[in-house]
Amino acid sequence: MTCDTVDIRRRNLLRGRARPSRPSIRPPWSDQNSFTSLCIRCGKCGEACPEGIVGAGDGGFPEIDFLKGECTFCGDCAAACPAPVFGDTAGNPWNAVAAAGASCLSAQGITCRSCQDSCDQSAIRFALAPGGIARVLVDGQACTGCGACVSTCPVGAITIQLHAGDGHAA
Ligand code: SF4
Ligand code: SF4
Ligand code: SF4
Repeated sequence: MTCDTVDIRRRNLLRGRARPSRPSIRPPWSDQNSFTSLCIRCGKCGEACPEGIVGAGDGGFPEIDFLKGECTFCGDCAAACPAPVFGDTAGNPWNAVAAAGASCLSAQGITCRSCQDSCDQSAIRFALAPGGIARVLVDGQACTGCGACVSTCPVGAITIQLHAGDGHAA
Protein backbone atom coordinates (compact mmCIF):
# COMPACT_ATOMS: atom_id res chain seq x y z
CA MET A 1 0.00 0.00 0.00
CA THR A 2 1.35 3.44 -0.84
CA CYS A 3 1.62 6.41 1.50
CA ASP A 4 -0.78 8.26 -0.77
CA THR A 5 -3.32 5.49 -0.28
CA VAL A 6 -3.07 5.75 3.49
CA ASP A 7 -3.49 9.52 3.30
CA ILE A 8 -6.55 9.19 1.11
CA ARG A 9 -8.16 6.68 3.45
CA ARG A 10 -7.53 8.85 6.49
CA ARG A 11 -8.85 11.95 4.71
CA ASN A 12 -11.99 10.17 3.57
CA LEU A 13 -12.55 8.70 7.01
CA LEU A 14 -12.37 12.14 8.58
CA ARG A 15 -14.81 13.45 6.03
CA GLY A 16 -17.23 10.62 6.77
CA ARG A 17 -17.27 9.18 3.28
CA ALA A 18 -15.59 6.34 1.44
CA ARG A 19 -18.51 3.94 1.83
CA PRO A 20 -18.60 1.95 -1.40
CA SER A 21 -21.87 1.30 -3.12
CA ARG A 22 -23.46 -1.97 -2.14
CA PRO A 23 -23.48 -4.85 -4.58
CA SER A 24 -26.45 -7.20 -4.61
CA ILE A 25 -25.28 -10.77 -5.07
CA ARG A 26 -26.76 -13.99 -3.73
CA PRO A 27 -24.59 -16.53 -1.88
CA PRO A 28 -22.33 -18.70 -4.02
CA TRP A 29 -23.53 -21.89 -5.74
CA SER A 30 -27.08 -20.57 -5.98
CA ASP A 31 -29.06 -18.64 -8.52
CA GLN A 32 -31.87 -16.14 -8.65
CA ASN A 33 -34.51 -18.72 -9.48
CA SER A 34 -33.56 -20.78 -6.48
CA PHE A 35 -34.20 -17.85 -4.23
CA THR A 36 -37.55 -16.85 -5.62
CA SER A 37 -38.89 -20.37 -5.72
CA LEU A 38 -37.06 -22.31 -3.03
CA CYS A 39 -35.53 -20.05 -0.36
CA ILE A 40 -37.66 -19.97 2.79
CA ARG A 41 -35.77 -16.95 4.15
CA CYS A 42 -34.79 -18.72 7.35
CA GLY A 43 -31.48 -16.84 7.58
CA LYS A 44 -29.43 -19.92 8.43
CA CYS A 45 -26.95 -19.22 5.66
CA GLY A 46 -26.22 -15.83 7.19
CA GLU A 47 -25.83 -17.31 10.64
CA ALA A 48 -23.41 -19.90 9.29
CA CYS A 49 -21.18 -17.57 7.32
CA PRO A 50 -17.94 -17.17 9.30
CA GLU A 51 -17.15 -13.99 7.41
CA GLY A 52 -20.44 -12.34 8.32
CA ILE A 53 -21.09 -11.26 4.77
CA VAL A 54 -24.49 -12.89 4.22
CA GLY A 55 -27.45 -10.82 5.34
CA ALA A 56 -31.10 -10.29 4.52
CA GLY A 57 -31.69 -8.13 1.47
CA ASP A 58 -34.89 -7.02 -0.18
CA GLY A 59 -37.80 -9.24 0.80
CA GLY A 60 -35.67 -11.00 3.40
CA PHE A 61 -33.78 -12.99 0.80
CA PRO A 62 -30.10 -13.43 1.57
CA GLU A 63 -27.49 -11.46 -0.28
CA ILE A 64 -23.79 -10.86 0.00
CA ASP A 65 -22.40 -7.63 1.42
CA PHE A 66 -18.79 -7.31 0.35
CA LEU A 67 -18.41 -4.20 2.47
CA LYS A 68 -18.25 -6.56 5.43
CA GLY A 69 -15.63 -8.84 4.00
CA GLU A 70 -14.83 -11.40 1.37
CA CYS A 71 -16.18 -14.80 0.49
CA THR A 72 -13.68 -17.55 1.24
CA PHE A 73 -15.86 -20.15 -0.54
CA CYS A 74 -15.94 -22.27 2.59
CA GLY A 75 -19.38 -23.62 1.72
CA ASP A 76 -20.81 -23.16 5.21
CA CYS A 77 -23.80 -21.22 3.89
CA ALA A 78 -24.72 -24.05 1.56
CA ALA A 79 -24.22 -26.67 4.26
CA ALA A 80 -26.55 -24.82 6.64
CA CYS A 81 -29.39 -24.38 4.16
CA PRO A 82 -32.43 -26.59 4.81
CA ALA A 83 -33.89 -25.93 1.36
CA PRO A 84 -32.65 -27.13 -2.03
CA VAL A 85 -31.31 -23.71 -2.88
CA PHE A 86 -27.64 -24.45 -3.36
CA GLY A 87 -25.91 -26.42 -6.05
CA ASP A 88 -22.81 -28.58 -5.78
CA THR A 89 -20.18 -26.71 -3.78
CA ALA A 90 -17.48 -28.62 -5.63
CA GLY A 91 -18.44 -26.64 -8.70
CA ASN A 92 -17.95 -23.04 -9.76
CA PRO A 93 -19.43 -20.78 -7.05
CA TRP A 94 -20.42 -18.03 -9.46
CA ASN A 95 -19.33 -16.27 -12.60
CA ALA A 96 -18.39 -13.00 -10.97
CA VAL A 97 -15.49 -10.64 -11.48
CA ALA A 98 -14.40 -7.33 -10.02
CA ALA A 99 -14.60 -4.09 -11.98
CA ALA A 100 -13.47 -0.54 -11.23
CA GLY A 101 -15.82 2.36 -11.84
CA ALA A 102 -15.23 5.97 -12.84
CA SER A 103 -14.45 7.11 -9.31
CA CYS A 104 -11.24 5.04 -9.23
CA LEU A 105 -8.50 7.32 -7.95
CA SER A 106 -5.80 5.86 -10.18
CA ALA A 107 -7.90 6.65 -13.23
CA GLN A 108 -7.81 10.26 -12.08
CA GLY A 109 -4.06 10.39 -11.66
CA ILE A 110 -4.01 9.85 -7.88
CA THR A 111 -1.73 7.08 -6.68
CA CYS A 112 -3.70 4.18 -5.20
CA ARG A 113 -3.18 0.44 -5.36
CA SER A 114 -5.49 -0.69 -2.54
CA CYS A 115 -7.46 -3.15 -4.65
CA GLN A 116 -4.34 -4.71 -6.07
CA ASP A 117 -2.81 -5.03 -2.61
CA SER A 118 -5.88 -6.88 -1.33
CA CYS A 119 -6.05 -9.44 -4.13
CA ASP A 120 -4.51 -12.79 -3.24
CA GLN A 121 -5.17 -14.01 -6.77
CA SER A 122 -2.99 -11.30 -8.34
CA ALA A 123 -5.91 -10.63 -10.65
CA ILE A 124 -5.53 -6.87 -10.70
CA ARG A 125 -2.92 -4.92 -12.60
CA PHE A 126 -2.73 -1.39 -13.90
CA ALA A 127 -2.37 -0.02 -17.40
CA LEU A 128 -0.35 3.17 -17.33
CA ALA A 129 -1.44 6.09 -19.47
CA PRO A 130 -0.20 9.65 -20.06
CA GLY A 131 -0.85 12.18 -17.31
CA GLY A 132 -0.08 9.83 -14.45
CA ILE A 133 -3.27 7.88 -15.05
CA ALA A 134 -3.40 4.14 -14.37
CA ARG A 135 -6.45 2.11 -15.27
CA VAL A 136 -7.48 -1.01 -13.37
CA LEU A 137 -7.34 -4.17 -15.43
CA VAL A 138 -8.96 -7.28 -13.94
CA ASP A 139 -7.93 -10.69 -15.22
CA GLY A 140 -11.30 -12.39 -15.64
CA GLN A 141 -9.68 -15.81 -15.56
CA ALA A 142 -7.85 -15.22 -12.29
CA CYS A 143 -10.56 -13.25 -10.49
CA THR A 144 -12.77 -15.43 -8.30
CA GLY A 145 -15.26 -12.70 -7.43
CA CYS A 146 -14.31 -13.09 -3.77
CA GLY A 147 -14.91 -9.40 -3.15
CA ALA A 148 -11.79 -8.80 -1.05
CA CYS A 149 -10.99 -5.74 -3.12
CA VAL A 150 -14.40 -4.10 -2.60
CA SER A 151 -14.16 -2.83 0.95
CA THR A 152 -10.51 -1.85 0.64
CA CYS A 153 -11.15 0.72 -2.07
CA PRO A 154 -11.15 4.14 -0.37
CA VAL A 155 -13.72 5.58 -2.77
CA GLY A 156 -15.98 2.59 -3.40
CA ALA A 157 -14.96 2.25 -7.01
CA ILE A 158 -14.85 -1.56 -7.07
CA THR A 159 -17.97 -3.63 -7.60
CA ILE A 160 -18.48 -7.31 -8.29
CA GLN A 161 -20.10 -7.88 -11.64
CA LEU A 162 -22.00 -10.99 -12.57
CA HIS A 163 -21.68 -12.39 -16.04
CA ALA A 164 -24.82 -12.37 -18.16
CA GLY A 165 -26.77 -15.56 -17.73
CA ASP A 166 -25.09 -16.41 -14.46
CA GLY A 167 -28.37 -16.24 -12.62
CA HIS A 168 -26.94 -14.85 -9.41
CA ALA A 169 -27.83 -11.20 -9.95
CA ALA A 170 -30.64 -9.77 -7.86
S1 SF4 B 1 -19.03 -19.69 1.14
FE1 SF4 B 1 -18.48 -19.32 3.29
S2 SF4 B 1 -17.63 -17.20 3.30
FE2 SF4 B 1 -18.76 -17.47 1.36
S3 SF4 B 1 -20.85 -16.68 1.77
FE3 SF4 B 1 -20.89 -18.91 2.12
S4 SF4 B 1 -20.48 -19.14 4.33
FE4 SF4 B 1 -19.85 -17.05 3.76
S1 SF4 C 1 -30.37 -21.04 4.52
FE1 SF4 C 1 -31.26 -21.49 2.48
S2 SF4 C 1 -33.50 -21.28 2.79
FE2 SF4 C 1 -32.50 -20.27 4.54
S3 SF4 C 1 -32.32 -18.09 3.94
FE3 SF4 C 1 -30.38 -19.10 3.33
S4 SF4 C 1 -30.68 -19.72 1.20
FE4 SF4 C 1 -32.73 -19.27 2.04
S1 SF4 D 1 -12.79 -10.07 -6.44
FE1 SF4 D 1 -11.13 -11.18 -5.32
S2 SF4 D 1 -9.98 -12.28 -6.94
FE2 SF4 D 1 -11.24 -10.70 -7.98
S3 SF4 D 1 -9.87 -8.90 -8.18
FE3 SF4 D 1 -11.04 -8.62 -6.26
S4 SF4 D 1 -9.71 -9.51 -4.64
FE4 SF4 D 1 -8.94 -10.27 -6.66
